[in-house]
Amino acid sequence: MSSIDEFSKKHKKEGYYEELVRQLKEANKKYHFMNQVNEGLTEGYPISFKDNICVKGVETTCSSEILKGYVPPFNATVVEKALANGFGFLGKTNMDEFGFGTFGTNAKEPARNPVNPDYVSGGSSSGAAVATALMKYHAGVAVSTGGSISSPASFCGVVGFTPTYGLVSRYGLIDFGNSLDKIGVISRSAADARRVFDTIRGVDRYDATCVDSEVRSEKKKKLIVINELTENMDEKIRSAFEKLLRKMENRGYKVERTDLGLVKNAVSIYYIISMAEASTNLARYTGFKYGKISEDFTQQYNKFFTDSRNAFGTEVKRRIILGTFVRGASVKNRYYGKALKARSLLIRRIKELLSTGYLISPTMPIRTPRIKEVQELTPLQTYAMDSLTVTPNLCGFPHVSFPFEYIEGMPVGAQVVTDHFNDNAALSFVEDWESDFKYRFEHNLGSL
Ligand code: GLN
Repeated sequence: MSSIDEFSKKHKKEGYYEELVRQLKEANKKYHFMNQVNEGLTEGYPISFKDNICVKGVETTCSSEILKGYVPPFNATVVEKALANGFGFLGKTNMDEFGFGTFGTNAKEPARNPVNPDYVSGGSSSGAAVATALMKYHAGVAVSTGGSISSPASFCGVVGFTPTYGLVSRYGLIDFGNSLDKIGVISRSAADARRVFDTIRGVDRYDATCVDSEVRSEKKKKLIVINELTENMDEKIRSAFEKLLRKMENRGYKVERTDLGLVKNAVSIYYIISMAEASTNLARYTGFKYGKISEDFTQQYNKFFTDSRNAFGTEVKRRIILGTFVRGASVKNRYYGKALKARSLLIRRIKELLSTGYLISPTMPIRTPRIKEVQELTPLQTYAMDSLTVTPNLCGFPHVSFPFEYIEGMPVGAQVVTDHFNDNAALSFVEDWESDFKYRFEHNLGSL
């Protein structure tokens, strides 16, 4: 049974929601996972939205200084749907600024790992994963462009579901990369993820990329491991993953290993395309209509513009510069054009594999690092950490990250990928896993 059904059946003492909000605000002082807590929550299953999803009348900042004070006059479609179907708005969750990051550290205050606050929570949907790990009854609506649901789900020991591109409306989502962005769910079980997904998906006349497709549940008994993806990996994760494969073999799955050279380029393909798209999306924050507006209208144009755009953080500026470069007229065929071709090829190759089975790998190549450690990584070292998560995102395939092992007390996630619109099969696979593996939750705020 999903915890959503369980919650609706359980008796709630008077003042339950007030107490929950109080506990949340207290926990937030330590874990920094919420950008806003809804003090007016009085009913429904608690649901949070990543801070790049517009909620009417609630400040929405993408964790960026440049959007400080921006209060949307409308709800994103996913918010409308959730609130109309028994969910109660809990608040906005912390994230890497504009979704740019893997560890949650590109934020004013990084969200902290629920097992040990010296460690990262993962990112960019950092707060959504931390909230899920801390609360007994909660689902986080999060967003992935290149792995931002899987990464924090893996580091925080929760389930992260990224649906097929186009199944959930992006209306009211502040874009990072329009051809890549997918709204999904972070929860404590696959059953909860399925419930929220069924609530928020569906065509939307406000989003032309949203499709009216049936969601399939076509089960397969083959697990495909792409050799290149497990090459540079933490040894303990690798051996735990081999154990997972043996367990699945005992349950009747056939494991097949294959080479797919092109995936070695997936990180480069992803960063070229996503930065190109991000740089165009960020062009609107000039201080004229959107972004931090200077009150001094007498100054020079360049000064006005620069002052406003200085409100962006370092990683955002880096992506604007690189993204603008790769689509520049004189080089665009060398970078952006080539990346688009490689992406099409990648989609074709992987789609062939997914017609016979599911892809499986660990979610992240490293064990949870300390916040201090990732702050010392170079940008390229950080981007390389996305080696396992960018591929399904570039291709728009549904995928679920789920906890499969605990190494020295820290959860480790694996990721299963299925064919387009076969989202339910990925969720069923994880439900099957959960029938024999108990996730560990050290915190249970709001339990009944
Ligand atoms: N880590 C990736 C990046 O920084 C993915 C982020 C995301 O999915 N929003 O671009």
